[in-house]
Amino acid sequence: MHRLPTFAHAFTCLALLLGFCLPTGAASAVPPLRVVATTTLVADLVRVVGGDRVQVQSLMGPGVDPHLYKASAGDMSALGSARVIFFTGLKLEGRMEDLLRRMGQRGRQVVAVADAIPSDQLLRKEGAEGHPDPHVWGDPRLWSLAITPVRDSLTAADPEGAAAYAARAAAYRTQLDTLHQWAASRIATIPKPQRVLITSHDAFAYFGRAYELDVVAVQGISTVAEAGLADITRVADLVKQRGVKAVFVESSVPPGTIQRISKDAGARVGGELFSDALGTPGEMHEAGGERYDVGTYLGMLKHNVNSVADALR
Ligand SMILES: [Zn+2]
Repeated sequence: MHRLPTFAHAFTCLALLLGFCLPTGAASAVPPLRVVATTTLVADLVRVVGGDRVQVQSLMGPGVDPHLYKASAGDMSALGSARVIFFTGLKLEGRMEDLLRRMGQRGRQVVAVADAIPSDQLLRKEGAEGHPDPHVWGDPRLWSLAITPVRDSLTAADPEGAAAYAARAAAYRTQLDTLHQWAASRIATIPKPQRVLITSHDAFAYFGRAYELDVVAVQGISTVAEAGLADITRVADLVKQRGVKAVFVESSVPPGTIQRISKDAGARVGGELFSDALGTPGEMHEAGGERYDVGTYLGMLKHNVNSVADALR
C-alpha cells in the first residue's frame, strides 16, 4: 500500500512535465485566452492585467528594436490564431502597424494600447510634422492609461473574467502610481544643472518630461535613420559644454555611437538603459544597491531611474 502515493506522485510529476496540468484556481476550468503582443513591454502589460486566464505570446524578444522589426512567417501564424492582438501603435511598430490594423476581422480584436492616451498628452518633435513620439511608457502615468484598453478587450473576449481583470487592472494602476512617486523623488536627488540624459535614440522624451531631465539623443525617435558624423559631433560638443558626467547605451540599440561620444567627450558610459524592450523575465540587474527583474515594466523602470540617478549625481 505504501507504494501507491509514490506512484501517484510520479504520475503527477510526469503530467506536469508534459504540460497536462492546468493552473490551479478559478481559471482551471477554462482554457486560457490566447493573445499575441508585439513588444515585451506590451506583453508584460497584458500578462499583468490578464493573469492566469490569459496566455500571452510576445512576437519580439528582449533587446529587439521594434522600429526595424518585420513579421516572420511564424509571427503571421501566431497572429492568425490569436483571439486578441495587442500592439503599441503611434507607429512604434513601424513596418507592422498597417498589417496589424488589417487583422481585426472575424471576431478578432486588434488593440493599439497607446490609442488610449489623449493626444494633448503626446509629444511631437518641435518643428516636425507627422507622428507623435511613441515611447509613452517612459512616463508611468501615461503607461497607466494603457491599462484600460487591455482590461476592456480581455473582458470583451472573456466576459467571465471581468471581475478578475478589473481587480488586476485597478491594483496595477496603484502600483504604477507608487512607482511614479518613487521615481520623481529619486531623480530629484540629481542637482538640476546635471539633469542631462544622453542616449542613442530619442526614446526618453516622456521620461524627461515626467522627471525634469533634458534629453538629448544622437538619433531621432525612430532608429530607421542612422546617426551621422554631424550628429555625433553635435552631441559630443554638448556633453563637453554642459560637463555631462555620463552617457547611456540602450539594450535594443547597438552601442557604437554612444561609446564614440563617451571617448570623444570624456564622459563615462553610465550603464545600459532599457528603452524599447524589456529584459528576459527573471533577469536580475543591480542598480542603486537593489536588484530588479528587468523582464518586467516595474523592474525595468526602477533599473533605469536608479542607473540615471547614480551616474549623473
Ligand atoms: Zn524607439
